[in-house]
Amino acid sequence: MSKGTLLVISGPSGVGKGTIVKKILARRPNVSLSISCTTRAPRDGEYDGESYFFISRRKFEEQIEKGGFLEYSEHFHNLYGTPKKFVEDMLEEGDVILEIDVDGALNVKKVKPEAVLCMIEPPSKEALYARLRGRGTEDEEEIARRIARADYELSKSPEYDYEIINDDLETAVDRVEAILNKEI
Ligand code: ADP
Ligand code: 5GP
Repeated sequence: MSKGTLLVISGPSGVGKGTIVKKILARRPNVSLSISCTTRAPRDGEYDGESYFFISRRKFEEQIEKGGFLEYSEHFHNLYGTPKKFVEDMLEEGDVILEIDVDGALNVKKVKPEAVLCMIEPPSKEALYARLRGRGTEDEEEIARRIARADYELSKSPEYDYEIINDDLETAVDRVEAILNKEI
């Protein structure tokens, strides 16, 4: 049995997952964030080993063969996966957060039933769209794609262990922390 809790955080794009996770990492030095592997090219300002490990499709497929991923899936013609050894090593040191989509999260639960799944939900659809637009990191076409995916992501909430509404940010962060403290 590993030492830490494996906490999987999902939710539609723009709901505030990254913001919440950053605050949790600042509050708790014993929590690590897993870095996924992807075959997509880095965007401006993304560096290897920071946002993702950027690897070739051939290398990714080799890792699939070797059983190197806890889970993986394809989005918009690129592969994304959670590196198994990386996560298991970090779990020996403390808690580990995975910030991945619903399909990946439900696949993690199949291989690691002790994983705790937490869905971050917006207070309303309007608030979600406003946050996504307000962030200013995607063009209109990409925003439309992410909005189209939001309902699907949220439809999986009943399969999650916890649902947290990110209305007031600090309250949402407190709730995630309470899950790690096993208080709720
Ligand atoms: P995600 O990682 O889920 O795609 P982000 O963390 O990038 O989302 O958040 C999207 C935008 O919403 C950011 O501009 C962030 O500052 C803002 N945001 C996050 N949480 C809240 C909140 N509780 N209230 C208002 N705005 C928020
Ligand atoms: P982006 O290219 O915008 O960073 O991510 C595209 C999609 O890939 C998002 O829905 C994101 O949640 C998902 N994703 C990122 N990392 C992983 C991962 O390790 N596994 C899975 N299944 N999906 C991931």
